Amino acid sequence: MKTVNGIPPVMPGIFTLPPYDDGPPALLGGFCPACSAYYFPRPKYCRTCLGPVEEARVGSEGTVYSFTVVRKKAPLGLPLPYSVGYVDLKETGLRIFCLLDPAALEKLCIGLPVRLAVNTMGRDINGSPCLRPYFTPASAKGERHSGKGKVEV
Ligand SMILES: [Zn+2]
Repeated sequence: MKTVNGIPPVMPGIFTLPPYDDGPPALLGGFCPACSAYYFPRPKYCRTCLGPVEEARVGSEGTVYSFTVVRKKAPLGLPLPYSVGYVDLKETGLRIFCLLDPAALEKLCIGLPVRLAVNTMGRDINGSPCLRPYFTPASAKGERHSGKGKVEV
């Protein structure tokens, strides 16, 4: 499995890894060319035509559709409190369930523009530190967005 400075992704193949020389962090899902349908996560076969589904970037930006803040029993070493919710991806229209930036809880609201970030956060199922994708307010500046310590200005 590819790692960044020895830190593996929480799950391989669901988001792009740093360095982000060819664009911002993006979620990786699937695309069925026959149906022009996107999926996240990527299924083996298209749910409509049962044809093969190609790997595709499905989104880097979106808006918060709904969210909640969890204040007890954070799993997998996540910070407490943390937030999960649904984000509507701008690029593909998919509505996905995802982690939201635990450092931006007070900024979260329905309709908030967000962008994908990737950082070392929490632990994987084996208890090791891992890279985790989450959505953060799109207007936030100066926050790290890669596991390599790259700083966005
Ligand atoms: Zn299809």
